[in-house]
Amino acid sequence: MSDSPNSDFIRDIIADDLATGKHSTIITRFPPEPNGYLHIGHAKSICLNFGVSLENAGVGAKCHLRFDDTNPEKEETEYVESIKTDVSWLGFDWGTNLYYASNYFDFYHDCAIHLIKSGKAYVDHQTAEEMRVNRGNLSVPGTPSPYRDRSVEENLELFAKMKAGDFKEGECILRAKIDMASPNLNLRDPALYRIMHAEHHNTGSAWCIYPMYDFAHPLEDALEHITHSLCTLEFENHRPLYDWFIENCPVPSKPRQIEFARLNLTYTVMSKRKLLQLVKENHVSGWDDPRMPTISGLRRRGFTPESIRNFCKRIGITKFNGTTDVALLEFEVRDHLNKVAPRRMAVLDPVKVVLENWTTGAVETIELVNNPENPEEGTRQVPLTSEVWIEREDFMEDPPKKFYRLGPDRHVRLKGGYIIRCTGFDKDADGNITEIRAVTIPGTLGADTPEGIECRAAIHWVSVEKGVEAEVRLYDRLFTTEDPDAAEGGFVTVLNPDSLKVITAKVEPALAAAEPGFRCQFERTGYFIADSKEHVPGSKPVFNRTVALRDTSKKK
Ligand code: ATP
Ligand code: MG
Repeated sequence: MSDSPNSDFIRDIIADDLATGKHSTIITRFPPEPNGYLHIGHAKSICLNFGVSLENAGVGAKCHLRFDDTNPEKEETEYVESIKTDVSWLGFDWGTNLYYASNYFDFYHDCAIHLIKSGKAYVDHQTAEEMRVNRGNLSVPGTPSPYRDRSVEENLELFAKMKAGDFKEGECILRAKIDMASPNLNLRDPALYRIMHAEHHNTGSAWCIYPMYDFAHPLEDALEHITHSLCTLEFENHRPLYDWFIENCPVPSKPRQIEFARLNLTYTVMSKRKLLQLVKENHVSGWDDPRMPTISGLRRRGFTPESIRNFCKRIGITKFNGTTDVALLEFEVRDHLNKVAPRRMAVLDPVKVVLENWTTGAVETIELVNNPENPEEGTRQVPLTSEVWIEREDFMEDPPKKFYRLGPDRHVRLKGGYIIRCTGFDKDADGNITEIRAVTIPGTLGADTPEGIECRAAIHWVSVEKGVEAEVRLYDRLFTTEDPDAAEGGFVTVLNPDSLKVITAKVEPALAAAEPGFRCQFERTGYFIADSKEHVPGSKPVFNRTVALRDTSKKK
């Protein structure tokens, strides 16, 4: 799948605005609040905003990365750095267009003064509870504040006092004066500024009043000459307010807000607050735990940027909220890795096969194709010795007719190598197979199955003598229910206790030297990546399963 997008209603609007000359170029923005790590939902927004700018590079389109850091209490530099890393990793470049909303505090303040002077904002001393009650609801119009009609001079003076720190938090706020009877509750004199005696990471203690999101966001967009401000559907009811600020403040441009449906995924929680809770309560090892839907978690799990971009392209942009099957995301990574991941052999549940006719101590080199999907990647040499590990499930003591792998007196091919015939096996007291005996069939290396032998399958294997052990982390979905947000006892009550299974596997020797971040297919089992944090080349191989080879979650 190429990276070029299908069209959608937003791209249609943009194409139209260029065609009619409404705009001569396009500027979009991705505006994360640095209060958590980015997740796959953010990827949808990133692919849209940066995608649109890339597609319109011909007219000099740009996409700004803007940190929406106006809230003094939450932001941390760790989050800023992780967000930059993740956007870059996804394959997007903001170039010189990096902005911080906290650099515009003076401008928001100027706009507030402008609104006060136009008689469109006032300082309100009602308590939060009074304001809530007086706001009314969908069937009851709001009740105007007793402070609503104070003079411009008085408002200017009180707002100056708010700014000077003369009031305590909650003592008063600055509100827009719009319409207390509006059917849209967002227009019933929304708050513009609140008092917060808090240090800000960028402006220190310069301010003790901070702008509300709904007020600051359109001003940020306008200051940056954003043409199309793309946000999720929850903000649809806020658009009249967005437009009101653009109309009534001294802004240098008129951005247009357009809403699209957010991404929701089955078996996944997506809110940063909930992801933070998973981290804080140690349900996962951190923001980059491979089970997390964060970009850093998906990266560590082995997802490729291409697979995430392809996923975003496939789901498209619409106006309808829905939930996407997480299997679609898994499909995309499988599809991409099938093309690019080299093949390696690893036995996850090993049982030993002793080759009885093997010359003691002999080591033969077997040549294996690295990637049948891409012959240019050539071959590699894997040692075969007198004993090999195979998967326990590739042997059956009493196999049914359709089982084509190993069983007493049956034949199977060791992938890339000889056909072997099983001559016997041992069991322990519990009936578990402890050892299988077999002989190699001479002349079958690199040759077709000889006449008179039935051999219909090839199984992967690892030399007992030359293979190495690796820690393998088998990940499954983090939650047991499709909609963890709807769980009665809260999403932590439906955590999957089997979402991580750690096993010791036998792997072909060269895998021990793999670099962290090396991705491959373990033949016949799945796609894996050498863990970026805990895999140590040469001494401690650790592999994470990105996804199993086949989707086994749904019984067909
Ligand atoms: P969360 O609800 O997870 O806390 P947020 O919307 O508060 O997310 P922001 O940092 O404000 O997080 O989001 C930055 C941008 O990413 C916003 O433009 C927002 O619309 C978009 N975004 C966030 N979540 C999703 C999602 N699930 N699908 C699509 N876009 C999203
Ligand atoms: Mg937010």
